[in-house]
Amino acid sequence: MSVFTPPKRTLMGPGPSDVPERILEAMSQPTIGHFDPAFQGLMDDIKGLLKYAFRTENALTFPLSAPGSAGMECCFVNLLEPGDKAVVCRNGVFGGRMIENVERCGAIAVVVESDWGEPVDPGLLEETLKDHPDAKLVAFVQAETSTGVSSDAKTLCRIAREHDCLTVVDAVTSLGGTPLEVDKWGIDAVYSGSQKCLSCPPGLSPVSFSERALDAIRNRKTKVQSWFLDLSLVMDYWDGAGGRTYHHTAPVNAMYGLHESLCILKEEGLEEAWARHRTMHEKLRDGLEDMGLELLVKPDYRLPQLNTVKIPDHVTDEAALRKRLLEEFNLEIGAGLGALAGKVWRLGLMGHSARQENVELCLGALRRVLN
Ligand SMILES: *Cc1c(COP(=O)(O)O)cnc(C)c1O
Repeated sequence: MSVFTPPKRTLMGPGPSDVPERILEAMSQPTIGHFDPAFQGLMDDIKGLLKYAFRTENALTFPLSAPGSAGMECCFVNLLEPGDKAVVCRNGVFGGRMIENVERCGAIAVVVESDWGEPVDPGLLEETLKDHPDAKLVAFVQAETSTGVSSDAKTLCRIAREHDCLTVVDAVTSLGGTPLEVDKWGIDAVYSGSQKCLSCPPGLSPVSFSERALDAIRNRKTKVQSWFLDLSLVMDYWDGAGGRTYHHTAPVNAMYGLHESLCILKEEGLEEAWARHRTMHEKLRDGLEDMGLELLVKPDYRLPQLNTVKIPDHVTDEAALRKRLLEEFNLEIGAGLGALAGKVWRLGLMGHSARQENVELCLGALRRVLN
């Protein structure tokens, strides 16, 4: 038996991103009980900091003790009942998972399709909602990590609201990296993940729900089919109002880490963090273009935190090049997913990974392995 010692990597894939030392140190502090008054104080602080990051006053804003996929599932199982109709916009992998969630709730998914590498088409959403006036909600991914595309969340939410639909927004890759305005845009349910632009280890999913979403949940005729994700039960754990009651045991040390990461975000400032992601993206883009590489996504809707670069034709074994990056440079980049497998690499500049030394390492390493 020997102690596991992970290699020291630079993480520039689709997540997890590099975790700053400060967060790792915070997480290695002594574990306390999850009903300890000190932990209750920490939970309140985390809720306040998440409201800052999401730009919301929503009372129900907290981190689920599970990864981003559980945040997605939580939104759908609480807002949908069997027979409900949901319009889901799909322009990559994660929109597809939303459809899967809707169907597993016994609801009907009406799909608004856009090509991979393109944003969700607001005109198509509008037409679809006209054809389906009985739709209860509209769901879409703001930052499609599978393609590197940013969709216009503000416009999509406005259209959904004009048709009296609730909105579910996947902000797993956008939170902390690109503008996200939960209250201003009228988002009703939003979920994210700890390991992307917040630069925490994976495993937590910050979520937030509007009053309209809570009304829909209160008016349900059926029980939420998932016990663990039933918000009416989770709420009593996260809300001190009637005294906190036992639901599950929070991952205490993971919460120390999330708290630290949100403190780091607030110290830098949310808008400054958005600007840093943009600046680092521009440096990376310039370097890639200097090498003759081309980005998949048009500049208007490119995500700064996830750069999808086309693999040059002369590369016959792209997996071998990624292996060299890992072995020779300790650099992890992402492979293409689904329809883009073998065609693109995904270069993440998320959170703590969005910094000058990472950009330089990545460009230098790519130059070496491509020559
Ligand atoms: C990573 C990701 C998820 C899933 O998050 P996990 O923490 O891996 O469960 C969902 N949506 C998007 C857009 C993502 O990038």
